[in-house]
Formats: sequence, structure tokens, C-alpha cells
Amino acid sequence: MLGPVILAASRSDRMRRLISAAPVTKQVVDRFIPGETVDDILPIIKDLTGRGLELTMDVVGEDITTPEQAAAARDAYLTLIDRLSELGLGERVEMSVKLSMFGQALDGGHELALANVRPVVEAAAAIGTTVTLDAEDHTTLDSMFAIHEELRKDFPQTGCVIQAYLFRTEADARRLAAAGSRVRLVKGAYKEPAEVAYQQKQEIDKAYVRVLRTLMEGEGYPMIGSHDPRLISIAQELARRAGRKLDEYEFQMLYGIRSDEHLRLAAEGHRMRVYTAYGTDWYGYFMRRLAEKPANLRFFLRSMVSK
Ligand code: FAD
Repeated sequence: MLGPVILAASRSDRMRRLISAAPVTKQVVDRFIPGETVDDILPIIKDLTGRGLELTMDVVGEDITTPEQAAAARDAYLTLIDRLSELGLGERVEMSVKLSMFGQALDGGHELALANVRPVVEAAAAIGTTVTLDAEDHTTLDSMFAIHEELRKDFPQTGCVIQAYLFRTEADARRLAAAGSRVRLVKGAYKEPAEVAYQQKQEIDKAYVRVLRTLMEGEGYPMIGSHDPRLISIAQELARRAGRKLDEYEFQMLYGIRSDEHLRLAAEGHRMRVYTAYGTDWYGYFMRRLAEKPANLRFFLRSMVSK
């Protein structure tokens, strides 16, 4: 019940100001967003890659309002890619990008987002890695898939995300699996209306398994974005039945969530990629993490009261 309320708060400027200014927020935020600058995050990248993990990096920020901010977001990714290249870490670390941060919601936003994301995809390819386009709310997805298709003409490794809670996703999965894409499947983190999305956990989980089967049986590279132990074992079983080798799919989890499981799967020989967010504009990302697990909210509120 709390999840939708927190997700609604994630869109509120008033709540953004209140929560961002709370004295203890930072220490709770750090669990999920372990740095604000490239210099903060590089030691974490080195540590995680040193433990046999791969990463996908999210420079947080999604509610931009000007083309200048969109260009700054692009430049932040380009700086990160430069620094990774200097350290020779390019191949282990890909980028996750929210097109809203690249200007998708502004006037002429589709073209603007494409123009901003292309140099990031080019720079990533130049150091031997790639970019995955995150999935945001359902109104943005036609544009995201069109940009994905456009980028794949020159950079076929470009990935995208699909969300099991949306009714449209089974059809999207069939199209993407046949086209041989890299596709991350997640349950979905936004507040979506009943006209477009399943609302019950059980229905979402069932849809996840149906879509996962399509991806595993298809010609693409499935990326299983979930912390759910049941879905992780089902994924292993579906991969086995589809005759996929360990390097023909991968698991992905968020930084700060079930970290022991990241290491366990990697030790079993799986490709395990940790989605690691950093930056100063962390509010939307942080609120979605609170919404996914009410215990996180209780911990956050307790830490404010006990201060
Ligand atoms: P759940 O049933 O929610 O969780 C299973 C278990 O995992 C829980 O019981 C708990 O132990 C643990 N857990 C899950 N979430 C949390 C949390 N926040 N804090 C503490 N423990 C937790 N969503 C999008 O809409 N678009 C995206 O582009 C996107 N990219 C993602 C990338 C990755 C790599 C991952 C892992 C998730 C991404 N998500 C994205 C979020 C996703 O949609 C879900 O909201 C999130 O993963 C929680 O679902 P779950 O599959 O882990 O299952």
C-alpha cells in the first residue's frame, strides 16, 4: 500500500525539498547512491570490478528542464567514460541512461535526446563497452524504443529495458528477442495506471516469467534485472532449457541491495552486473528504492526521529 504513495511523492517538488534538506538523509541515501562525483565513484568501481563483478553506471538525474541541463548530463557521462578509459576499466563497465535526463520531455525532446545520447554511445563503443536505455514511465517508451532502434543501426550492442508490469511488454519482448537485442527485463518501478499495467505482485511476477521465457528462447542477450530469489532460479532453469551458456545471459542487481547475492552468483560463474548510481540529483532514484521496500522507508523515518 505504501509503494504508490511514495511513488507519488517522488514527483512532488515540495517533498523533494523537504527530504533533500533533512539532516540524516545523506547517510541513508549512501546505501543506494554511494557517491556524488566521478572521484567518489571510481574507487567503488575499482573495488567491485576487483571482486569479479561488472557494472552499469547511472549518473542520476531525470527531472531536467532546459537543453543546457540535458547537455550537462551528456557531458557527465562523457567524463565518466574518459576516466574509465584512463583506468582501463572500459570493458567491465557499461552505462545506463535515462533519456528524460537527456532532454526527452522538452520541446523537440525526441530529437534532442537522440542527439545527446549518440555521443555517449559512440564514446562507450570506443572504449569497448556499451549503453543501455533505461525504461521510464509508459508515456516515454515509444520514443525510447525508436531511439534504441536508431542507435542499433550503428551500434547493435545498445541495450534497452522492458518492464514486466506493462501489458505491452510481451509484444515488445517478442520483437526485441527476434531482433537479437540486449534486453534488461525488470518488474517496473513507476506508478502506472490499471489501463496499462498489472497492479498485483503475483500478476507482475507471472508476466515476468512469460517475458523471460520469450527472451531466453529468442536470439538476443537477456539481462535479468531482479533481486527476487524465485525469479533468479527460474531464470537459471529457463537458460538451461534454452541451451544458453553462462556467457549468453547475465544477472543485474542494484548497488546496495542483496550484495551477498551479487558475489554468490559471480562465484558460481554467472555474469553479474551491479547497477551503480551516483550524482547529486538522487531524489527520484532514492524514492523508487524506498517504494520498492516499505522497510527502507521505516528505516529512513526512524533515522530521522532518532537524530
Ligand atoms: P521485488 O519483489 O521487489 O524484490 C525481491 C526482493 O529483493 C525483496 O524481497 C527484497 O529482499 C529485495 N529488494 C528489492 N528491492 C529492494 C529495495 N529497494 N531495497 C531493499 N531490498 C530490496 N525499473 C524501471 O522501471 N526501469 C528501469 O530501467 C529499471 N532498471 C533496473 C535495473 C536493475 C539492474 C534492477 C535490478 C532494477 C531496475 N529497475 C528498473 C527496478 C525494478 O523495476 C524493480 O522496481 C526492482 O528491481 C525491485 O523488483 P525486484 O525484481 O527486485 O523484486
